[in-house]
Amino acid sequence: MSKTAIVRDHRFLEHRTGSDHPESPQRIEAIYNMLERPEMVGRFATIEPRLADKAEILLVHSPAYLKKVAATATRAYTALSPDTIASSGSYEAARLAVGGLLQAVTKVGSGCYANAFALVRPPGHHAEVNRAMGYCLFNNAAVAAAYARKVLGMARVLILDWDVHHGNGTQHIFEMDNSVLFFSIHQYPHYPGTGSFTETGLGRGEGFTVNLPLARGYGDSEYASILHALLPPMAAEFKPDIIIVSAGFDPHEKDPLGNMRLSLAGFAALTRCLMEIADACCDGRIVMVLEGGYDIRTIGDNVKAVLDELSGKTKCRVSELADSASAKKVHYTLKRSVNVHRRYWKCLSHPLDICCANKRFQI
Ligand SMILES: [Zn+2]
Repeated sequence: MSKTAIVRDHRFLEHRTGSDHPESPQRIEAIYNMLERPEMVGRFATIEPRLADKAEILLVHSPAYLKKVAATATRAYTALSPDTIASSGSYEAARLAVGGLLQAVTKVGSGCYANAFALVRPPGHHAEVNRAMGYCLFNNAAVAAAYARKVLGMARVLILDWDVHHGNGTQHIFEMDNSVLFFSIHQYPHYPGTGSFTETGLGRGEGFTVNLPLARGYGDSEYASILHALLPPMAAEFKPDIIIVSAGFDPHEKDPLGNMRLSLAGFAALTRCLMEIADACCDGRIVMVLEGGYDIRTIGDNVKAVLDELSGKTKCRVSELADSASAKKVHYTLKRSVNVHRRYWKCLSHPLDICCANKRFQI
């Protein structure tokens, strides 16, 4: 049995966004071409996607919004927002993206596979309850988390969003919910403008939204160091049943829509860090879903770096990478975050030991 499964389908190419749109079918074509390389063929199980039911989409979206997206199937092109274009094939692709991810969550949840990566489009994390935004139609990760809770009966879901843009839609959908921990690391200030340290959730959900806004220019070792210091203790306290990852590849150093400096090693490190957390908390259960990533030349190799980790072909040494981080950048981010979240999390009530750039410090 393959340890790692993927979701892929040619119908994702039928979501057409017009010429010169960054979220183009070529993105997923590049990823699927990578999967056809001789060294990749046969390494992963394939999970067949299905069309999500309307009731499943309504777990997070409003009926009026679902109707609005469904109506796009009868027209050549519809602008759902200034930057979110739907073609006649988009509604089917969007339902298939949700359904593919739900299949992956179901199969990983039941132990058929250790982990999975849904290589789907359109992306989802900017989509709000009642509107499209930022190239996103339905919020794939949010529907999957709601489905894991309400249909599969899981008690708690951790969503980690490493796309370079803040996942405003996912945050808003779960901001009052203490059963979904939304943890986002992103460039800030940047599109869509949300995701500051002080956005921590509302009501019963207070403390269950964790934002790590980073200034431009953070690289592999800083991402690894920050995540490695903060997420394992918080996850151990939260005790998720599954980890869903909004995996965007736009923090890559060559991406046209971001200003971060991640390389293949950084994506491998983020993946390994999450695998270690999942092994400790939830029998290794991780399901990733593709969000952004707009450099067609590198997106295939970025996804490969993640799949190589997920399947155990490579094993990134996260702490070694984290040790070479800029102490100044790491210290600032962790201190701000810990100061905000110390009141909600017992694990942050005692000092965190950080080691980077050969210096040790406590926060
Ligand atoms: Zn993005």
